[in-house]
Amino acid sequence: MKEFNITVPVVELSYDELTAEERRLVDEARGATHRSYAPYSHFHVGAAILLSNGEVVTGANQENAAFTVGTCAERSACFYAGARHPEARFVEIAVAARGTDGKEVSDPVAPCGACRQALVEYEVLAGHDVPLLLVGKDRIFRLPSVRSSLPLAFSEF
Ligand SMILES: [Zn+2]
Repeated sequence: MKEFNITVPVVELSYDELTAEERRLVDEARGATHRSYAPYSHFHVGAAILLSNGEVVTGANQENAAFTVGTCAERSACFYAGARHPEARFVEIAVAARGTDGKEVSDPVAPCGACRQALVEYEVLAGHDVPLLLVGKDRIFRLPSVRSSLPLAFSEF
């Protein structure tokens, strides 16, 4: 038997400590929270993905009365990026949220497991690590890659 630990390196930053490109990405993610359709959870999530062609693609959670057909912000952005810019590769991702009170959440939110799995595949396609910014009002976490948020991801690669 062999036991090993998996660690996730997380850097906590303030908005001012981000690069200019990251601040743009965070702003886009925060803006996208206002385009969510969340009449059931009232939890508004926005995601922004910087692509290798310089474009920033955003997504927001889209709920449905039939709950399981709704889509998270991250997959909404991810699949739109794949459909709109199939030649581009992911460079960096930011995720932000507003809570049921309509205000930005204080602590960062993380993508659900399904979104992490979806995003890992696009990171594999990129051929390099794709940093993940998890955005809260007071703190921002930077993970070095999507895979670091889902260390034992399912993959055929
Ligand atoms: Zn999700």
